[in-house]
Amino acid sequence: MEEALLFEKTSPGRIGYSLPALDVPQCQPSLHLQRKTLSLPELSEPDVVRHYTRLAQWNFSIDQNFYPLGSCTMKYNPKINDWAASLPGFAGLHPQTPDSFSQGALKLMYELSSMIKNLSGLDAVSLLPLAGAQGEYTGLRLISAYYEARGEKRTKILIPDTAHGTNPASCSLTGFCVVKIPITSEGILSLERIQKEVTKDVAALMLTHPNTLGYLEENIKEISDILHEKGALLYCDGANFNAFAGLAQVRDFGVDVVQFNLHKTFSTPHGGGGPGSGPVAVDKKLEPFLPVPIISKNHDSYALNWDRPQSIGSLSAFYGNFGILVRAYTYMKTLGLEGMRRMAHMAILNANYIRSRLKNHFHLPYPKRFCLHETIFDDSLQNKHGFTTLDMAKRLLDYGYHPPTIYFPLVVHGSMMIEPTESESKQTLDAFCDVMIKISEEGKKNPDFLKKAPYTTKVRRVDEVHAARNPKLVYKA
Ligand SMILES: *Cc1c(COP(=O)(O)O)cnc(C)c1O
Repeated sequence: MEEALLFEKTSPGRIGYSLPALDVPQCQPSLHLQRKTLSLPELSEPDVVRHYTRLAQWNFSIDQNFYPLGSCTMKYNPKINDWAASLPGFAGLHPQTPDSFSQGALKLMYELSSMIKNLSGLDAVSLLPLAGAQGEYTGLRLISAYYEARGEKRTKILIPDTAHGTNPASCSLTGFCVVKIPITSEGILSLERIQKEVTKDVAALMLTHPNTLGYLEENIKEISDILHEKGALLYCDGANFNAFAGLAQVRDFGVDVVQFNLHKTFSTPHGGGGPGSGPVAVDKKLEPFLPVPIISKNHDSYALNWDRPQSIGSLSAFYGNFGILVRAYTYMKTLGLEGMRRMAHMAILNANYIRSRLKNHFHLPYPKRFCLHETIFDDSLQNKHGFTTLDMAKRLLDYGYHPPTIYFPLVVHGSMMIEPTESESKQTLDAFCDVMIKISEEGKKNPDFLKKAPYTTKVRRVDEVHAARNPKLVYKA
């Protein structure tokens, strides 16, 4: 590339740029068009390949080692998903292709919606939301539209104090007020408390299920009965659906709207904020409000349907994160319903295995029940010896592991939230547990040693607060 669009400072505060072989005289007065050769470094292909391979090696991914990041469901992502998503008919499809030329993609989305309907037991699905959080936002907009159509004014959403931070954030974005509900010492919601809190102005309870401590909300059906009796709805944050996909339908718990995190439960590489896909499934009373377009089927042909007078409107350009939809579809088809059940069983078994292997070495803040997909420890036994969850998380990096989610949920002081997922072998789980125990012993002998970890990474321990408060943003090193 000899010449290209380039920004150049022509005088203080002024930016000029040049266009390759293009004459745009009408722009010249204000933009100072110039012709200039770009000073890009000339590199050979092997140099470029080595550069990016090195960067990839410095990164950490599930393809390298165990990644027990609680709540995030970092399971192995089968390569067949990527193969399917990169098929030229999918990857090369222009989003504005007429429906008649994109029947395959529309059929895939229609069938994926049907599978999500079957798994949830609910009546209608939108695949549009681009993340779990956007699914929450969509669900809450639907709830808001529902009450508006009924002429009811309900302003509050109840949220347990263990919830993921996106829950209250989505409420605020939608204009609802958040009422925080404390969980009991058993780690679940209390019926009495819900009974007391559901007043006439409550629109819904937003409940993560299984909850963020990894527990089944045992009274969820009774809770939904209370809500429905008082005219309120039950929103389910389904990001932890890995624990019961194929085992139970949320419809049976009385859920009115649920979002799924396809990038977690149905395996797409994710992390660092994306990419994601957070479809919502709803009861028929919320269906008229779903965002446009929805995919409709007429005999054997499929179409995007924009003609929905009560819809909350568009959420994003086109039809969601299509590549993730293809991956989720491929994953579901590969596993089938039986495979999905086995996935959920294994995820639960693996989390409980870690729980029982580590429970004599780390304190369990909510010890009374079995967990589902994840287990939470705290650092109270280690604090006595002068080291913390953060020190142990940093030391795990030296042993080649991604640390678990730490200091979340906020109700657990010094929390370590471990989610192994179903895709790990017993050997991997044992090796990880051995290292966790070893690190705890290292700290008891010499807490200062742990305080300086990690020792083997490219970047040693950073002052994260300082880095966030005083970011150094450079264009060229
Ligand atoms: C991951 C997660 C979310 C948010 O999903 P994103 O795709 O990251 O926006 C919400 N709730 C729970 C319980 C989660 O684990």
